[in-house]
Amino acid sequence: MTIYKTDGRGRRYTDIVQTVGDTPCVRLNRTGPAHVSMFVKVESFNPLSSVKDRLALNIIESAEREGQLKPGQTVVEATSGNTGIGLAMVCAAKGYPLVITMAESFSIERRRLMRFLGAKVVLTPKEERGIGMYDAAKKLAADNGWFFAGQFENAANADIHESTTAREILADFEDSPLDYWVTGYGTGGTVTGVARALRRERPNCKIIVSEPHNATLLGSGLPQERNADDSPNGSHPAWEPHVIQGWTPDFIPKVLQEGIDSAFFDEVRPVDGMKGMAMAQHLAANEGILTGVSGGSALLTAVEVAETAPEGSVILVMLPDTGERYLSTPLFESIPAEMNDEEKALFASTR
Ligand code: PMP
Repeated sequence: MTIYKTDGRGRRYTDIVQTVGDTPCVRLNRTGPAHVSMFVKVESFNPLSSVKDRLALNIIESAEREGQLKPGQTVVEATSGNTGIGLAMVCAAKGYPLVITMAESFSIERRRLMRFLGAKVVLTPKEERGIGMYDAAKKLAADNGWFFAGQFENAANADIHESTTAREILADFEDSPLDYWVTGYGTGGTVTGVARALRRERPNCKIIVSEPHNATLLGSGLPQERNADDSPNGSHPAWEPHVIQGWTPDFIPKVLQEGIDSAFFDEVRPVDGMKGMAMAQHLAANEGILTGVSGGSALLTAVEVAETAPEGSVILVMLPDTGERYLSTPLFESIPAEMNDEEKALFASTR
């Protein structure tokens, strides 16, 4: 007889998009100082394994509701990958063609995943940075009458985090202190949406935002130049190429600007993405939790916060995606495919 028991999910799902969200907050037991409790919110439990499934769903469904997206109309978006993968899932399930523009510097498995899900992927030169892929998507939309998803400006982005990610956190910590919430930003949808709710309902929870140590857009305090439609007018002066895929594009998006203007960030901390990768590896090997470079970097930031946090503090860290999305990248560079001497010796002992 088994000691494990389950009642299933108590429902059947009408399609895959219904399974987005409701990701678990999991305690860490071998990470960080002993005087605090650390939890991670594991967004890889989403159907296409990242936090961006949430925004993909809401961008498409709010455009459907508002009549901006017609049946069978092509959707186009500029994305470093996870948004494109989420959109590819939603568009496949709902029957919309999808075209993604993406700088050639992002990981190969992201492109192939999107194409596997039926999307077209247009690569833009890496010298043109995030703005190059963004301008290409906007031009394709204007020239062809396609629906531009616009994750960097779309209100549906932060809204879905306010109405789902934040509600899940508030419910899961209803009977517990929550002293720190730690996240990075790409579009800023996660931080802005969750912060709206935390400020309202858990005002004592400190919101810690992390960014790459060589691209401190927020830390620099320098403003972003903008066009009349709120899109960025050129790269931010503090930006440099960095290793944390999905974080900190070369401009401050409008969605993130709301967080700055509303003083949502109690502290902005720089983090070294290479050390974030080592933390992702620690998390995998010591907690059995697989996350990408941004998750490792957010966790490293949280461990640094934990070191000076008061006794008994409870800290929650966002883990945006899975480590499997980075097999071809520096995250896995130190992981050999061939047997080492110890493994060879074990094999030899079987002969
Ligand atoms: N990490 C990864 C791997 C991502 O793809 C993204 C989204 N670009 C983020 C973090 C940041 O999320 P958000 O856009 O909500 O700020």
